[in-house]
Amino acid sequence: MSKVLIIGAGGVGGVCVHKCAQVPEVFTEIVLASRTIEKCDAIAASVKERTGRDIVTDTVDADNVPELVDLINKHKPVLVINLALPYQDLTIMDACLETGVHYLDTANYEPIDEAKFEYKWQWAYQERFKEKGLMALLGSGFDPGVTNVFCAHAMKHHFDEIHQLDIIDCNAGDHGHPFATNFNPEINIREVTANGRYWEHGEWIETDPLSFSMNYDFPEGIGPKKCFLMYHEELESLVKHLKGLKRARFWMTFSDQYLNHLKVLENVGMTRIDTVKYNGQDIVPLKFLKEVLPEPAGLGERTKGRTCIGCRIKGIKDGEPKDYYIYNICDHEEAFKEVASQAVSYTTGVPAMIGAMLMLTGKWTGEGVFNMEELDPDPFMEKLNIHGLPWTEVTFKN
Ligand code: NDP
Repeated sequence: MSKVLIIGAGGVGGVCVHKCAQVPEVFTEIVLASRTIEKCDAIAASVKERTGRDIVTDTVDADNVPELVDLINKHKPVLVINLALPYQDLTIMDACLETGVHYLDTANYEPIDEAKFEYKWQWAYQERFKEKGLMALLGSGFDPGVTNVFCAHAMKHHFDEIHQLDIIDCNAGDHGHPFATNFNPEINIREVTANGRYWEHGEWIETDPLSFSMNYDFPEGIGPKKCFLMYHEELESLVKHLKGLKRARFWMTFSDQYLNHLKVLENVGMTRIDTVKYNGQDIVPLKFLKEVLPEPAGLGERTKGRTCIGCRIKGIKDGEPKDYYIYNICDHEEAFKEVASQAVSYTTGVPAMIGAMLMLTGKWTGEGVFNMEELDPDPFMEKLNIHGLPWTEVTFKN
């Protein structure tokens, strides 16, 4: 029925290709393109072995719009799933507009020389996508992505008003390396070392990086963990779309070992994103660091434990205060067995596939640029249970 072009053959791209291949009735043809063809071919071989399906592979420099346009015209997909890096969002959106193809991604655009997490650049494409009758779905990963859909589900089925939102992301897994990041190290470290920010009473409040923490007792035996307040991009769209919100925060767990390594790397200047001269060459320290750290796509084999990501929401239902929690638990080893990847890539690649499936089957339609919470959460919530990310909801008695 539909041909998709997936761009980016990293951890998330790998999961998404495997998951699309499991649904042949929707994804009749799958093309995977990235900078390095060998990575695309390795994913295609794994999919062939697991599902018997053939994936077409190709190369592209996704920073280059004419190359992207040629690639899209060559393969003629209905939808491009962008799983490269946030730096490529705008070039891929430009190419989609030029070729008349729908667009989906999992992370908002970031300028390469500034760790800014804002939707303003992509929201500025609203009119252009509308005029072309095309849909761009932004942030169809887990956070952003499923967390936005959890909020839309809570608003639709559990609350009349939502007052407080805490998105809490716990990775209780262990990959056995002294230091590694579970998704692209450059993007991860830019995010973690940025100032924290949360929304309260109509304004953004900025905090020093990782300066604010709480203990949260995670369900199903994961137990209490220290969580750090961070800024995360879905806060911006949720604050815009969830009417009546008084406070919105995002939290993530980090081990002491991770934080100690990060502190040292920061202190010695290895997390800098500006250019330094080395032997007459321009080098960005964080980009160099990425090259010597373990590849996230290679962590799957050795990662054990589970992730637990969810939304704790407080508000009003039928005139009464309500305290509600919705979460997913994902097991690293189970994910690896199914699609040769750890749970952090799994929890991102599966929602990318589901968002694409809903667009291709006409369950989610629209013209313009959309964040996940603007669409009907019901079909997405149903597909999460079917495709590997089941959710649980709890209402706490006050
Ligand atoms: P990886 O670094 O593992 O993979 C990125 C892939 O993109 C690589 O295959 C890389 O190719 C390719 N790529 C990078 N630059 C270009 C380019 N100019 N042209 C073509 N291909 C390019 O990252 P992840 O898979 O971990 O992350 C993918 C995306 O998912 C990121 O945007 C990340 O922010 C997002 N993400 C979202 C999450 C969510 O919950 N919403 C959670 C985790 C990640 P090569 O290897 O050849 O360099």
